Amino acid sequence: MPDPTLIPVKASSIDTWSYESDVLVAGFGIAGATAAIEAARAGADVLVLERLGGAGGAAAMSGGFIYLGGGTPLQNALGFDDSAENMKAFMKAALGPGVDDAKIDAYCDGSVDHFNWLIDAGVVFDESFWGEPGWEPPHSEGLMYSGGENSAPFNKVIPPAPRGHLPRKSASDDGEQAGGYMLMKPLIETAEALGARTLYDSRVQALVIDENNRVVGLTVRQYGVSIAIKARRGVVLATGSFAYDDTMLRDHAPRIEGRPAASIESHDGRAILMSQAIGAATAHMDATEVAIFCDPQLMARGILVNGRGQRYINEDTYPGRIAQETLLHQGGDAFLIIDELLYEKALQTESTSAIMRGTPKWVCESVEELENEIGLPKGSLQSTVELFNHHAASGSDPVFSKKSEWLTPITTPIAAYDLRGMTGGFTLGGLKTTVDAEVLHVSGEPIPGLFAAGRCTSGVCAGGYASGASLGDSSFFGRRAGKRAAAR
Ligand SMILES: Cc1cc2nc3c(=O)[nH]c(=O)nc-3n(C[C@H](O)[C@H](O)[C@H](O)COP(=O)(O)OP(=O)(O)OC[C@H]3O[C@@H](n4cnc5c(N)ncnc54)[C@H](O)[C@@H]3O)c2cc1C
Repeated sequence: MPDPTLIPVKASSIDTWSYESDVLVAGFGIAGATAAIEAARAGADVLVLERLGGAGGAAAMSGGFIYLGGGTPLQNALGFDDSAENMKAFMKAALGPGVDDAKIDAYCDGSVDHFNWLIDAGVVFDESFWGEPGWEPPHSEGLMYSGGENSAPFNKVIPPAPRGHLPRKSASDDGEQAGGYMLMKPLIETAEALGARTLYDSRVQALVIDENNRVVGLTVRQYGVSIAIKARRGVVLATGSFAYDDTMLRDHAPRIEGRPAASIESHDGRAILMSQAIGAATAHMDATEVAIFCDPQLMARGILVNGRGQRYINEDTYPGRIAQETLLHQGGDAFLIIDELLYEKALQTESTSAIMRGTPKWVCESVEELENEIGLPKGSLQSTVELFNHHAASGSDPVFSKKSEWLTPITTPIAAYDLRGMTGGFTLGGLKTTVDAEVLHVSGEPIPGLFAAGRCTSGVCAGGYASGASLGDSSFFGRRAGKRAAAR
């Protein structure tokens, strides 16, 4: 459907500016909150526009992982060695192909400072580590491996360190006490305490440009009326991903069409489209974070096979890596094979995703029978299990290098979970920005007056993902966007 409201509006055509500020921030999630804080600290008058009725965005509903390293005080206190160089090496290997080296370098070099900045803003991290498989720690542990650093193919070539930092949860796990809320609460309060003003129920529609194509404001839909708001110094776009826009998904990331996860409905990609309408460049629009709805405590103990009955990944890696591999390279078809003994062991463990354990779809007395029940090619699962067991008996996995602690030959009775279609995710691509969060024109020049951060931009992830990378780069480059916008 054509949408003429995306077309930029000429400042000369505006009779009345309903509001004015030095820095205008679109979106009050994590990129917007961090931009607002830094812009206000730089002395700017800040106005934040939020489409919803309250602040927080997806960030406030999230698990709260922030990917930080290079020797943060929390890593040091828990006895983990890390360096900015090792962090860079891991991120460049795991988050590609095609990563923005300059962004990753800046992010890793500034990571310890960013940790301290979050502490100063009131975010609290518990001095404790969770070392078991999982999407998140089950309690309030502050640190966890969150990207597969300690498993193949990375653990042998890059010294592993846990970098998933989690804000302390409150008394219980649910609702507003979860990690994301405990991250966003102090950030929102800090922005407000610094004098940032907010307008809720205000949906940004289009950019306003002057005669030199400088961005000088936004048009906004508020209670059924369109208004114009002026930005004296700069506009920061921080409106999240395009995981909920089916047209954009079909055009750029069709594998996650109809399966948005870890995102919210207001993530409709509008900031990307309205910036493209003045010539903004984009990057990695096909990149997606993917989750698989299965408990990692089960996956690490079993073997994952595709629709041809073949293993395709080491099951002890970061579950998001398993999910990407499943959806993007195995057509979304996966079956988790596990025997009774290992299943019982998994059930005795703690997990935040115990709800994803359910019960296996098939339980059989032999591998052949299971292969037949699932409908896998004759002999395929049998030879996969035979090969896996042959090596597992001596504690090795020459095919995918799963660690020996997870290698137990699979016996009978044997079961399988049907994981077909059990994936979802959000988009990682978006506006192409500099390390200072300036939005680039397709010519390669920054667009005057326009800055962006968070999931409406392409950040540190170009293809791969690690939990915490989204809140991490949204907040890191959100701060830079706020500073830079205030400086104009
Ligand atoms: C359940 C869940 C778990 C997650 N766990 C993690 C995790 O542990 N670690 C991690 O790194 N990431 C996690 N994520 C993803 C992460 O929350 C987001 O990727 C991140 O919040 C992106 O930051 P952002 O500032 O770009 O978007 P958001 O934080 O969503 O903020 C964008 C804001 O812009 C507003 N907005 C949108 N359009 C407009 C408009 N036109 N005008 C005005 N306002 C607008 C939105 O309503 C929203 O408030 C999780 C997400 C969910 C939902």
